[in-house]
Amino acid sequence: MHAYALLAEAKEQGSHLTAEDMFRGMLEIGSRISLSTVYRMLSDFEIAGLIERQRFLKGGVRFELASGDSHSHLIDEHTGDIVEFRAEDFGLQLGKIAAHYGCEVEKFTLSIYITRTR
Ligand SMILES: [Zn+2]
Repeated sequence: MHAYALLAEAKEQGSHLTAEDMFRGMLEIGSRISLSTVYRMLSDFEIAGLIERQRFLKGGVRFELASGDSHSHLIDEHTGDIVEFRAEDFGLQLGKIAAHYGCEVEKFTLSIYITRTR
């Protein structure tokens, strides 16, 4: 029951959540789950390929539902806001580099730390 509720909570709250975000969300819907159980279940979900773990220099570890595609992130240095984007052109360039070394890109992600100018 906890597993389904935690996944539903992740979907409800959106992406790039901390374990603490999900823990608070679970408490708000009346769950009595512990933070350590949230961490354990997130690890299980990650192993099962249901969620992905992102490690940002600022903002720490965040979780998002697995999308199956390569996407990257702009991370606001001041607010911690995270914006997703897809860099297909850059992916093509990475593919050429990988091919030069006799391999291919399985997946890539960029974490770009920004200051908003407008
Ligand atoms: Zn993302």
